Amino acid sequence: MVRRVDRDTALARIDADASEGCVPCALARARDPLMASTHAVATLSRFPVRWGHVLVVFREHWVTLEEVSPAAWADATALAHAAGRAVERALTPARCYVASLGTSEPDLPMTFPHLHFHVIPVGEPGARPAEVLTWRDGVYEGTAEEWDALRAALLAAWP
Ligand SMILES: [Zn+2]
Repeated sequence: MVRRVDRDTALARIDADASEGCVPCALARARDPLMASTHAVATLSRFPVRWGHVLVVFREHWVTLEEVSPAAWADATALAHAAGRAVERALTPARCYVASLGTSEPDLPMTFPHLHFHVIPVGEPGARPAEVLTWRDGVYEGTAEEWDALRAALLAAWP
């Protein structure tokens, strides 16, 4: 069964990842992305705030919008749009959030300066962004089989 992991456990895990450098840069180099485009890579979040949470990460370590050309932005948002459509088709959430987030601080937990998009299936009708875009309640984890099934479902639904 997919289950929640509490915030402190999730923090410890992401700290271990972050100790190896910029996490989004590592994600962008991952060998097995869900899908990729010229400027961005879509991958399952390993720390999903909802099951089915996808990250779309720029390949380059860009931290300001000024660094992103209109063409690169269009390319990445097209990938985020496709990911969101796959999430809607495969998981039929009440809503699918797409948000570009990030922080100016390099050392805050659970967030990174490297620009990226979150594509998040939200099951609760009427959920507010602040209730979803938080690690306060921990993150989800599944078994290897559950991760594989999620990946296969999104790929099968990819537009
Ligand atoms: Zn980076």
